[in-house]
Amino acid sequence: MKQRLLTPGPSPVPEETLLELAKPVTYHRSAQFRQLFGEVQEDLKYVYGTRNPIAMLTASGSGGMEAAVANCLAPGSKAIIAVAGKFGERWRSIAKAFGVEVISVTVPYGQAVQPEQIEQALKQHPDAAAVCATLSETSTGIRHDIRAFGELVTRTNALFLVDGISGLGVAECRTDDWHIDVCVTGSQKALMLPPGLAFLSVSDKAWQRIEQNSPTRVFYFDLRKYRDSLKTNDTPFTPANTLVKALSVSLKKLRAEGIENVWARHARMAAACRAGVQAIGLEVFAAQPIDGLTVVKTPEGIDGVALVSKLEKQYGIRIAGGQDPLKGKIFRIAHMGYIDQFDVLAALSALEMVLLEMGYSLEPGSSVAAAQQVLAQQVRTPQMV
Ligand SMILES: *Cc1c(COP(=O)(O)O)cnc(C)c1O
Repeated sequence: MKQRLLTPGPSPVPEETLLELAKPVTYHRSAQFRQLFGEVQEDLKYVYGTRNPIAMLTASGSGGMEAAVANCLAPGSKAIIAVAGKFGERWRSIAKAFGVEVISVTVPYGQAVQPEQIEQALKQHPDAAAVCATLSETSTGIRHDIRAFGELVTRTNALFLVDGISGLGVAECRTDDWHIDVCVTGSQKALMLPPGLAFLSVSDKAWQRIEQNSPTRVFYFDLRKYRDSLKTNDTPFTPANTLVKALSVSLKKLRAEGIENVWARHARMAAACRAGVQAIGLEVFAAQPIDGLTVVKTPEGIDGVALVSKLEKQYGIRIAGGQDPLKGKIFRIAHMGYIDQFDVLAALSALEMVLLEMGYSLEPGSSVAAAQQVLAQQVRTPQMV
């Protein structure tokens, strides 16, 4: 059976990138690798919207978050953390692990933290050393207004640390213009690569803080080492160079399409997917949805865990369920990176069939029709190259 991966990480990898991964392993201390690494830096800066250097770690996305905290936040300092789901909670756990005092700004799952709440927290805690937020809260499907948060944080001494792991390359995120001091992402979401790389852009304000902190509880994750090596397009340790070469292929694709077109493509798929599920009476879980995935409430009387499992076993459609308290209560359909409009239509079609089989009443084809209406109505942006 043909398998279709529609999970919000890992996400599918384009054929050209897979072919690059099939090539023999090469040595990394070479002029060729340095040249490629330099090009990859430029392409990453383009996707990030930054002039700042981007540290690349061999780690999953959480390793990048840990590096941000370990370098930017001294033990005993205070961080305001926007918590709207599992990944906001992850910022909180990492900060606690590094002895940082946490001020949580929490909203119920499905809601987004509002800029006024961040403003209030900053007023109450003028000594905060950082504000940590999540662009795309993958566990609930919400989008935070990172731009508005950034405008508030930049007026203070706090650094603005953003988990952009499932959001960068999906939705508008302008690292420099939005005053993001450290923006973290990972390879396996919208960058169309397998898991294994984490990236962090670091602003001047953050470098000053890092120098001031002179962090001692880091070695492999010491960002100063990465910055120094970058001056000669090098890495302090053996890079995952096969992944870096593959990254170069995927980034070229994004660059050729144009980042605004990439955002528009995701917005169009998201609009179609939301219309599709709503057409069969389902409800979108996120109050302020991000365009990289659609999180749907499991309808009354349907076993959400069985639904996700049937989609995979019977139709080869792999979507994600809910985690922890949301287990069985929601399901998550990703439309990021190399997932395209026809994958979304296939997922909706299979969803209809599974729901029908489970006794849910719907008109076959109605969700696909509604999604396709949206796709047909919205002006087609230049297609992915
Ligand atoms: C995927 C993801 C992460 C990181 O997860 P890893 O498993 O460590 O790669 C962090 N934050 C968000 C928002 C994510 O979507």
